[in-house]
Amino acid sequence: MSLAHFLLNSRGIVNLTLRANTLLKRFSFTPAKMESLLDCGIKMHQEFGLKLSLPVTAIILERYPKIIQKLQNNDVELAVHGYVHIDYAKLSKEKQLKHFIRAIKIFKKYGIKFHGFRAPYTRWNKDTFLAIQELAFLWESSKTVLWDVLNKYKSILPEKNWKAYKKVLKLYNPIDASAHPVLPEIKENFVEIPVSLPDDEIMTDRLNLSPETIQKVWKEILKITYERGELFTLQIHPERFKLLKKIIIEVVKDGKNYTPKIWIANLSEIAKWWREKSKFSAKIREVDNGNYKIVFNCSHRATILCRNVLPLQNQIEPWYNSYQRVIAPSNELQIQSKLRPVIGIGSNCSQTLKNFLEGEGYILEQGKKENYGIYFEDIKDFNEFEILKQIEKGDLPLIRFWRWPDGTRSCLSIAGDIDSLTLIDFFMRIFGK
Ligand SMILES: [Zn+2]
Repeated sequence: MSLAHFLLNSRGIVNLTLRANTLLKRFSFTPAKMESLLDCGIKMHQEFGLKLSLPVTAIILERYPKIIQKLQNNDVELAVHGYVHIDYAKLSKEKQLKHFIRAIKIFKKYGIKFHGFRAPYTRWNKDTFLAIQELAFLWESSKTVLWDVLNKYKSILPEKNWKAYKKVLKLYNPIDASAHPVLPEIKENFVEIPVSLPDDEIMTDRLNLSPETIQKVWKEILKITYERGELFTLQIHPERFKLLKKIIIEVVKDGKNYTPKIWIANLSEIAKWWREKSKFSAKIREVDNGNYKIVFNCSHRATILCRNVLPLQNQIEPWYNSYQRVIAPSNELQIQSKLRPVIGIGSNCSQTLKNFLEGEGYILEQGKKENYGIYFEDIKDFNEFEILKQIEKGDLPLIRFWRWPDGTRSCLSIAGDIDSLTLIDFFMRIFGK
């Protein structure tokens, strides 16, 4: 389905007129209404530590530089959201590059710092990534991932709402969150950060869910990502900041109640951490029979975990499940263990599996199978969750780096696009202006 087709059928001009009431509540002919919504975002960001990341189209920045600069002056992260709000999946690499370079020029002209990119409508093609690669963005966040948290509401929702939801899913084409761990991914030149669905737009405009239900849905995703130790990039558009303010605050407050903690970070902080973490390594040496010394090459933010080993001189604290966290000193660890507390691999272990395991923070060592509790030989095709289950289910001795910094268990990030500030912008957007 093309975007134009989608817009005309699903939220086309006729539909928009019918929704005029809703639109008038969010926008007016001047940017005053949206400015007060963005102020509400700044307030939440400052009072509740939301760490907002707001991608904005360059044309909006060009029209209202002062409003966007105010966000930056209040420590809100801004990112490039294309030059105009169009479907970049339809354009060639050359055309996309032209748009993005134009957008960057406008960001620079108005002194707006940016490290990341999100495609309008989260629509992209492989050329989008090639263009992003060339322009040296630190992060890209346009791939969507769908959490299975709405099916239980299907029976209580009007059929037309469910159909509208399914239609918008086709446009987003999300990855199923139950198929892969939902985490940032290092591409050649940038870090890809997935966006979680359902977002505010799906739950308000498509499904017409009550604020209470939206809160339940987001808290459920937060809980799942916490248990899985993954990333929840919650998407809320600024036009719904006031409508969903209480809910967002509740989700963040809920997030602060977990122990170990959830890392609340903006998208640049996540991308920088993911790069930092990718450079960590460790060496293990058997000092004498069953006594090991591990030397870590990592930053002070690394979360070092151990399981079923006896630390000799290190300070440790309980962490999550059977893991304990090494507190200090964390660049060296001396332990007693029945087996070598790292993952053993055979000489024929595939590079893909090695990359996956190292990306997950495991320490790998080539050696004899009998020395290790966990050992992988040649596996060509593997399911990431199955491998993780195999490693994590037992309580065999293990030392590893965790995914998130400073002892946190999972990560929450709140982001939302600034697409229009007035009703006129909203209608111009439909025509790609
Ligand atoms: Zn957008």
